[in-house]
Order: sequence, then C-alpha cells, then structure tokens
Amino acid sequence: MSSDQTWKDKYFQELESAEQRDEQWKVERNTLERMLVRTSLASEGQAPELDRLLERVRSDLRKNKVDVKSWRELQNQIDRQVALLDDMPAYKHENPSAPPVNIASEPKSVIEAAGGDEVQDNADFEGAHSQRLRIARRVGHLLGQLLSQVSLEPTAESHARNLQKALLSSDNWDELREGLNQVADLILAAVTRGQREFEAFLKRLDERLEALQEHFSVQSSVQTGRQAAAETLDRNIRKEIEQVSWHIETSDDIHGLKQSVSSHLECIGQAVGRFRVEETEREKMLSAQLMAMQEKVAVMEAHSEQMQEQVRKERERAMTDLLTQLPNREAWQERLAFEFNRWKRYQYPLTVGVLDIDLFKRVNDSYGHKAGDRVLQLVAREMKNRLRTTDFVARFGGEEFVLLFPETLPADAQLVMDKLRSHVRALPFHFGRDPVTITFSAGLAAFAPGDTEESVFERADRALYVAKDVGRNCIKVSQLTD
Ligand code: GH3
Ligand code: MG
Ligand code: MG
Repeated sequence: MSSDQTWKDKYFQELESAEQRDEQWKVERNTLERMLVRTSLASEGQAPELDRLLERVRSDLRKNKVDVKSWRELQNQIDRQVALLDDMPAYKHENPSAPPVNIASEPKSVIEAAGGDEVQDNADFEGAHSQRLRIARRVGHLLGQLLSQVSLEPTAESHARNLQKALLSSDNWDELREGLNQVADLILAAVTRGQREFEAFLKRLDERLEALQEHFSVQSSVQTGRQAAAETLDRNIRKEIEQVSWHIETSDDIHGLKQSVSSHLECIGQAVGRFRVEETEREKMLSAQLMAMQEKVAVMEAHSEQMQEQVRKERERAMTDLLTQLPNREAWQERLAFEFNRWKRYQYPLTVGVLDIDLFKRVNDSYGHKAGDRVLQLVAREMKNRLRTTDFVARFGGEEFVLLFPETLPADAQLVMDKLRSHVRALPFHFGRDPVTITFSAGLAAFAPGDTEESVFERADRALYVAKDVGRNCIKVSQLTD
C-alpha cells in the first residue's frame, strides 16, 4: 500500500502546483485586463464608433465574458476604425501624397474632421497628433508595468521590450500604430498561451488519474478474486475433511475406509493444485501491472521534475532584475524579511546599506541612456563579484542598490564598502574617447533593539543623504541618534 501512498502524494503535489499556476495565471490575466481597460480609456475621444467599440471591450471585461473569437472580430473592427482615423485630412499633412478621402462613405467623425479651413486643419492635426503620441506613450508606459508583472517567453519578452521602446520614443505615427496593433496581439497571445498551457496540463493530469484508477481497480479485482478462490479452497477442504471424519466415525470397514480417505485426500490435493495454478496466473498479471505502473511512475517523475524546474526558473525570473541580473526589489524584500527574523531570534549584528551612483544623470545626459545602462551593469557585476557570498546585494531601482551584511558590524561593512568604492572609482570607463570616473555614495545602518525593517532602511537612507551632502564618493554610517 505504501507505493500507492506515494502515488497519491505525487498527484496531490501535482494538483497543488497546478492550482498555483492557475492562481498565477489569474493574476497575470487580471493585470492584462486592467491594462486593456486603461489603454482603451486612454484611447477614447477619437471617434464615436471607436469609443463604442472600446466601451464594448471594457464591458466584456467587466462582465467577464471575453471570447477570443468574437474579440478577434472586435479587434478587426477597431483596426478599421484606427485606419479611418489615419485617413483623416489632418493626418495628410504628414503624408501629402495620400489619396483623397471619399467623404460620403466615411463615418461622421471623419466628415467633421474634414471640414474647416487650413488653420483649423493645422490645429486639429497638432491636437490629434499630440493626442496620439500621448496615447502611444501611455501604452508604452503601461506595457512596461505589465512586463514587470507577467512572465513571457524570452523571445516574446524581448519583442515586447522593443515595442515598449518604440512606443516611448517614436514620433512616427505609422510605426506607433503598428506598435499598438502588436501590443493587442501580444495580449491575445499571452491570454491564449496561458489558457492552452493550463488546459494541456489538466488533460495530462486527467489521463494520469485515469491510469491510476485503472491500476487500483485491477488490483482490487485481483484481490477479490484471490479472496474468493481462497474461500472456495477452504470450503472444499473443510467439506472433504468433514466427510472423512464422518466415514471414520461411522464405518467399520477398514478397507473401505482406507479407500474413502485416499479419494478425499486426492480431492484435496486437486483443489490445492487448482488454487496454485490460479494463484500463479494472478501473480503474473499483478507483476505485469506493476511493471507498467513503474514505467508510468518514471515518466511522471520526469515530468514532475520538469515542472519543478520550470516553476523554479519562473520564480528566478520574477526575482531578477533584467538589466543587471542582480536580485530585484521583490527578492530584496524577501531576503530582508528573512534576515530580520534571524536577527530577532539570534541577535547577531546585521547591517543594511543603501548605495547610489553619483551624478548618474550626467552620464546619461552626456553619453546616452545606453552608456548609463552599461555602467549599471558593470557596477552591478563588480559588486556581485567582490562581496562575500553571505552578503546580499539587489537593485532597488534606477541607480540605487541595497545591501545586507549579516553578522557584520557597521564599521566592518564600512570597510568593505569603502574598498568597493575605491575599486569602482578606479575602473577605466571610456565613452567614445572620454575617460569617465564613476563613483558612488552609500549609507549604512545596523539593526538595533526596537527596529523594524523599515526603520533601519530609513536610517541607512538618511546616512546616504549625509554622504551626498558632504560631497559624494564616500560611505557614511548612521548613528542611532540620527
Ligand atoms: P546624485 O549624485 O545626487 O545621486 O545625482 P544623480 O544624477 O545620480 O541623481 P538623479 O536622481 O538626479 O538622477 C538619477 C538618474 O538615473 C536619472 C535617471 O534618468 C537615471 N536612471 C534611472 N534608471 C536608469 C536606468 O535603468 N538606465 C539608465 N541609463 N539611467 C537610469
Ligand atoms: Mg538616485
Ligand atoms: Mg545618483
């Protein structure tokens, strides 16, 4: 029975992780839906027909009746409306070569927009254009938020990142319109991917449960068969023995008695022989069953390992900052809570650090955002390589990093940070031909009785601002009275 027990455990485990995936999927879906609602609100006021379609999007979402097929149709209608907007005369200022619009066949909004003199057209154009840009920027921004919350496959992720970049920076409406279309496709793809995966998973689980049930039912029928056969054997033997005793008691013919006993013994022997043959058959069947089940267990174990690996990878992705590959803010909160609890229990020294790159805006302004990104990556790499493995560093956001030094007094952490500071300062950064020196400032604070995670962090942050105040490129330790 113990192997059945582990089987059951495995199914429950698998079911539980399916439920977790379902939960995660719901959160992702919810995020996607919220983004759709915001996007549709941001896009309102262009044309009444478009507004009506966007309202339908929101109302479907509200009523929770999203049907992918009818939404594709809805998407086509929205595409057509957006295409009509692009044919508005205002837009033709950008495209003087575009063919004239057939006013009679266009919806009212287009006719309205087509009226007015040159000056009016120009104003309309400026208004419509800047409104479109505003929408595109907003969608780009929302896409960024979305990407930080849902997990896409790596290719889709990098595609989405490029889209986001275009939406945030491009002024070319054709490109932006294409980008907006792709965002819609991306959302649909993410929605259907999650559904498909989960359905496939449930189907597999169902098949396995069926196999398990079959196994149990075969086993129990074999078990019943064996019990019935044993009862029959018992009955037969008892009957023969009863008859033998009766003969012994009643007969006085030794010869007849001898014959009768041996024929009864013969019957008993035959019954036992039959039972043995049947038992061997049952054993054979059971062992074939067992082998088949062992194979299934092996397949299932492999699959379960694969799923665990996938869950582990997804979790790691969710905890890692994309640019620097350092743990991100979520990972930081988790680790801080963990170390805080250990500190409360064991009271060993625990120091928190907040680090901020000095005058980083200048790097971006002088050499571009890409150069800034590269600096963040390199500084992150140096920190990761030079800190002890028991220390912890995460990207808190922008050019700010946070650190944890377990079992370390602030004065010792200060020595470590100061070494790191002079190391980074000496790194030979070059942008174009310019040598550039990168420095950082940091604040440190140690946990003290009565502290919370937040209070220590705030003290470290204040120490960081002291370091900035006194001229940057230094490390300051918070005194408790700060
Ligand atoms: P201070 O010494 O006072 O910290 O000056 P600072 O210029 O570093 O500080 P400020 O907060 O004014 O500027 C931080 C800049 O960091 C502004 C922002 O554009 C830039 N930044 C934030 N995140 C990123 C990023 O992911 N990549 C790049 N390249 N720049 C970033
Ligand atoms: Mg900063
Ligand atoms: Mg800074």
